[in-house]
Amino acid sequence: MHALSKSRYTAFRQCPKNLWLKIYKPEEAVEDPSLQARLDQGNEVGDLAMQYFGDYEEVTTYSHGRLDLSAMVKKTQQYMRSSVENICEASFEYKGNYCAVDILHKEGRGWAIYEVKSTTASPGRIDRSKIAPYLPDIAYQTWVLEQCGVKVTGSYLLCLNKEYRRGRELNIQDMFVALDLSKEIDHEYRLIDDTVRRAQKIINSDVEPEIDLSEDCYKPYPCAFFEYCKRQHGISKPSVFDTYRMSGKDKIEHYQQGHTSFEDLRNEKLTPNQRRQVENTLNNTIEINKDGIRRFLSQLSLPLYFLDFETMQSAVAEFEGVKPYQQIPFQYSLHIAKRPGKYDHLGYLAESDGTDPRRGVAEQLCDDIPANVCVLAYNMPFEKNCLKDLAYAFPDLSRHLMRIHDNMVDLLVPFREGYYYVPAMGGSFSIKSVLPALFPNDPKLDYHNLKDVHNGSEAMDIFPKIRTMSRREAERTRENLLRYCELDTLAMVKIWENLIEVAQ
Ligand code: SF4
Repeated sequence: MHALSKSRYTAFRQCPKNLWLKIYKPEEAVEDPSLQARLDQGNEVGDLAMQYFGDYEEVTTYSHGRLDLSAMVKKTQQYMRSSVENICEASFEYKGNYCAVDILHKEGRGWAIYEVKSTTASPGRIDRSKIAPYLPDIAYQTWVLEQCGVKVTGSYLLCLNKEYRRGRELNIQDMFVALDLSKEIDHEYRLIDDTVRRAQKIINSDVEPEIDLSEDCYKPYPCAFFEYCKRQHGISKPSVFDTYRMSGKDKIEHYQQGHTSFEDLRNEKLTPNQRRQVENTLNNTIEINKDGIRRFLSQLSLPLYFLDFETMQSAVAEFEGVKPYQQIPFQYSLHIAKRPGKYDHLGYLAESDGTDPRRGVAEQLCDDIPANVCVLAYNMPFEKNCLKDLAYAFPDLSRHLMRIHDNMVDLLVPFREGYYYVPAMGGSFSIKSVLPALFPNDPKLDYHNLKDVHNGSEAMDIFPKIRTMSRREAERTRENLLRYCELDTLAMVKIWENLIEVAQ
């Protein structure tokens, strides 16, 4: 007999088939590549949150390498009887329904539940759309505890304080914000007896539920089994689900009305970019608006500085003055083009010794980019944010950094505006889609030919790990990071040259 848990209950609330597939066909899930990094961050936040109320006891117990749930339930009872004020991973079981509470906090004659999440919130403000995904989980825990005879005095979400800037040391109380969701879970709580009964039935049946695609596939998160379910419904690429910037709700509406293929979408209401994607894909045509491209190019003045940052980001602020999830630049690449076909390259990669890389990045950047030149970035809000954060952190460099910021032009514009569309872009205007579409047979411009680091997430993930590597491995990784970031700005140079060519 399979038991229900917090995560299984939440999966059932998204869709009964999601829960069934998790148990019987887990190999069909397509996990988000950044999932492991997010889980690691969640664990770090969870470990720190244990100290939120001061002293605590943790009940986590392993036996033969696996969590020993019955030992954890027993330990929890012992701690509760001996009035331990804070019990972490406090575990309960009621008729095949199991849950572990992140922090169980003694409150008067009862106990308050604190569910820890590495999401951010402002103190005293409950953003209903942000907390909605957590309500089933918290309601389920409240229900299990009450069935076990525990008087629950409050149900809280403990998350990261959006407004907290780290001082020299971490301040655990200021770093977290507790949101009282006792009232918000009311609706979910009223449904819970019935929901638990239905979920139990699903997990203990070997018959796969028949459920069609619906808005639930996107809510609260895109479902990991989406590719599997699409295959079951015979949906192949390209379909409405590949359409550029269409909301999940609209995709499902089209699907339910039978407009699934690009051919079906032809007569439907679409945005100009979606129509461009559909028509050019069906006709296999390239679209070039020379006037639009010329207009874009006319605002650029030589020499051009092509800039790209690599950043790391951590839920728990690592350096003084930093907020949760703030992007911390540790590397940049810069191509300087004097004219098409004539360019130089400069690269900067901070020391990977665990110290704050920002000052080095900011100083070198001010040395490398004059305050009055035209700077190009691809999808520039990201680079602009990095520059703004650096300017805030270093007032003595702020003027120069903000001039670079103000002089920036976005190379994405001609593609986003539809001046240039190649079907191979597949409706995406990211540099990773545009570059291979414009240069399909150039191995020097192929991200797949890079070693170990092929995208920003991999760069973000590997940089902090360098300090734990052997010297040889560290040197190789630094070299791979340099090559990766260099390709990002070389790609921009090549795209700019290509724009000049096609506009003639
Ligand atoms: S993709 Fe949709 S239908 Fe399939 S399991 Fe997920 S939520 Fe359910």
